[in-house]
Amino acid sequence: MERERNSRPGKRGRKKVCMFCVDRAEKIDYKDIAKLRKCMTERSKILPRRVTGTCAYHQRELTSAIKRARHVALIPYVSD
Ligand SMILES: [Zn+2]
Repeated sequence: MERERNSRPGKRGRKKVCMFCVDRAEKIDYKDIAKLRKCMTERSKILPRRVTGTCAYHQRELTSAIKRARHVALIPYVSD
């Protein structure tokens, strides 16, 4: 945590780990907006998993969680 400055911003070589797998989350809570936001652009678009490193399983869970969150108006729909 305190050594983060030392990590070089190299684009390659950094292996991404699915953040939901790290949490050992089986289901993604659509009410967990903070987490959903990390996987979305500022325009509320879902980031592709090659960007976030989310695994295939959780990407699917994420997509449905985001759709659900939109449905209940926790996050806005893309507006352009
Ligand atoms: Zn995962």
